[in-house]
Amino acid sequence: MSLLEPLPPVTVDAVELITVHLPLATPLTSVAATRRERPVLLVHVIAREAEGWAECVAEATPAYHPETVATATDVLRDHLVPLAWAGPTGDGPALHEALTAVRGHPMAKAALELAVLDAQLRAVGRSLAGWLGATEAAVPAGAALGLHADPVALLAEADAALAAGAARLRVKIAPGRAADPLRALREHVGDDVLLQADANGSFRAEDPDHLAELAALDEVGLACLEQPLAPEDLTGTARLARRLTTPICLDEPITSLGALEAAVALGACGVLCLKPGRVGGWIAARAVHARCAELGLPVWVGGMLETGLGRAANLAVAALPGMALPPDLDPRGRFAPDLADPCLPGADGLVAVPTGPGIGAVPDPAVLAGAAVTRCPRP
Ligand code: MG
Repeated sequence: MSLLEPLPPVTVDAVELITVHLPLATPLTSVAATRRERPVLLVHVIAREAEGWAECVAEATPAYHPETVATATDVLRDHLVPLAWAGPTGDGPALHEALTAVRGHPMAKAALELAVLDAQLRAVGRSLAGWLGATEAAVPAGAALGLHADPVALLAEADAALAAGAARLRVKIAPGRAADPLRALREHVGDDVLLQADANGSFRAEDPDHLAELAALDEVGLACLEQPLAPEDLTGTARLARRLTTPICLDEPITSLGALEAAVALGACGVLCLKPGRVGGWIAARAVHARCAELGLPVWVGGMLETGLGRAANLAVAALPGMALPPDLDPRGRFAPDLADPCLPGADGLVAVPTGPGIGAVPDPAVLAGAAVTRCPRP
């Protein structure tokens, strides 16, 4: 992997933590909950040379990951921003190292680092994608389908996503709601549609019924089966991987390069769902992507129900070379209103990778009106 080119530091005067609540255009149900709105935490870096923005991917509740919007706000305000003031505030790569003094909290760290990088890149007129070494000008759009109690509703949602231009369908599953719905979906969409399933850790290796249902998924022809078992059960996942022909994709437990190495060494990870916020930022995501290339491990970019702002930043990683599957970029759009251009596919079915300075998007001030702002000025 080539080294990242150094960027001139910027002089930061203030960091703002902004929380805005946005309604989802389509409710999304996973094993954890049905979501109809999403609180979105933004980090806004005000530097003399340029402003920088980043969306923190932490959610309202700790169902997917221990961080929440509330914990990320607290950790940023009380620990990460003070560390930044005490060290290399205006230099993303140096800040990346300085923030390792705080354990965990990858989503909060990723947002602060990205907002600083965004300001630095805007100051020199360079795009995040170009700086990271992205090679693709456009990428296909993958859709995520929620859990449905009614199988007919799942097929209808699949039709809607495909009509909007989805290049693959990733379906949320849970025990008792996996094999039958996916068989019906495969029959409905035909053999040519790329299908993935995501259990969000809801199956148990000790339960024979759970194992039988997962084994039945082998006949559906999934590109991968994501997070069938709990994030902590890597040895159980490795045993399951040996029993199935469908490759096992890991998501929740891979919070760092080290976690990836351990999972691969155990034989628990056949495919990686890479989320920059979950691995501690865009610099770390680039390193994880490079390691996957060395290992020959298929990797693709997952989404966290981001606004257009977060999708623009994810596109910089999704456009790195050799991605194995389409990224999560639901072609139906997720928010109404959205914070920024929602990065939807064009007539060719592809989503253009932003080429403008920084992440290539800024939030719409009208949508931010009334948002809660915590201002952290330079001490
Ligand atoms: Mg997942």
